[in-house]
Amino acid sequence: MITENFSWEEMQESRIARERGISNTPGTAERAAMERLVRELLQPLRDIYGQPIRITSGYRSAELNRLVGGVPDSQHTKGEAADCTIAGDIKDLYYILMESELLFDQVIVYRKRNFMHLSLRTEKENRYRVMFQ
Ligand SMILES: [Zn+2]
Repeated sequence: MITENFSWEEMQESRIARERGISNTPGTAERAAMERLVRELLQPLRDIYGQPIRITSGYRSAELNRLVGGVPDSQHTKGEAADCTIAGDIKDLYYILMESELLFDQVIVYRKRNFMHLSLRTEKENRYRVMFQ
């Protein structure tokens, strides 16, 4: 486990990678970024929300990222981003994040598909960019 509610497995699990036999193993720098993302953003958000947050896509190797149509240089390939979903409306989690004082880099809310992309920068900088799709 990385924290109480988030495991290394779910942060790097990819059904597509498994099915296609693509390697999806993060390196040292990526693991450090993943750990920071979980410790400083996902777990604190989960603690405020009080209910499960499921990671649908965390770390992506460059090959996996290309395959799933991720933007080149995606923060997923650096271990800095995760897509997550909840049993309820993802907008509720978005509101909780906005009301919190948690720092993030970029948030993209995918309303129709009910998930949210969250990232944390490795530098001490906050772009605080929010997008709705
Ligand atoms: Zn994403």
